[in-house]
Amino acid sequence: MSVRELFPGVYEISLKNRKFLATKNLVPGKRVYGEQLIRVGEVEYRAWNPYRSKLAAAILKGLSEMPVKPGQKILYLGAATGTTSSHVSDIVGDTGLVYCVEFAPRMMRDLLNVCSFRKNMIPIFADARLPEQYRMVVGKVDGIYCDIAQPEQAKPLADNADMFLKEGGWILLAIKAMSIDVTERPSEIFKREIDVLKERGFDIKQVVHLEPFDKAHAMVYARR
Ligand code: SAM
Repeated sequence: MSVRELFPGVYEISLKNRKFLATKNLVPGKRVYGEQLIRVGEVEYRAWNPYRSKLAAAILKGLSEMPVKPGQKILYLGAATGTTSSHVSDIVGDTGLVYCVEFAPRMMRDLLNVCSFRKNMIPIFADARLPEQYRMVVGKVDGIYCDIAQPEQAKPLADNADMFLKEGGWILLAIKAMSIDVTERPSEIFKREIDVLKERGFDIKQVVHLEPFDKAHAMVYARR
């Protein structure tokens, strides 16, 4: 077995001819979504499934720089049951924070459970289109991760950035083409959303298409 660090806090584990993307488990012994726990010496890692997490898919599809780093404060829009945000929580570690916004009660129930044992994840039951609702809870952040699978994803992301993103901060936007308008081709939808980001002052660093892990999805990495 061997472990290679791909980015700070992100590892590739080679085990019996198989390779796993992984993060160090911030809460050893605890799983979030049935993922494999892998012990190497004193350290426990959590396998990071690219079919369940678009950020893992983006890394395996060649994201050239990993903006999520140890110690950062991150605003996560569309946390669902905590799958990807828990890996982000592993990466930022004890000195970082992940503010997790989710508006579906069913998802929130599971997310609250995950946040109960991951002390660097703060659950926020709110609509990401209305950032003023959680202004009192969220401070300035290093980055915003957005995966709300809604029409007009770039606009709410930019509205959140206006309120919370530090100067020079990063964004990652998972664009789900089909949820915006089923009659449009994915490439037109990607272009339109990217244009909105440019108009709102973002410098697009990279667009990563996530097939075969995720169909009709792209991850946009940008900075202000
Ligand atoms: N990012 C998650 C992961 O990788 O673990 C998956 C997110 S899922 C594709 C999209 C989530 O966004 C759903 O749980 C949905 O309820 C939530 N969502 C959609 N619109 C939202 C909004 N306006 N405000 C907050 N959450 C929203």
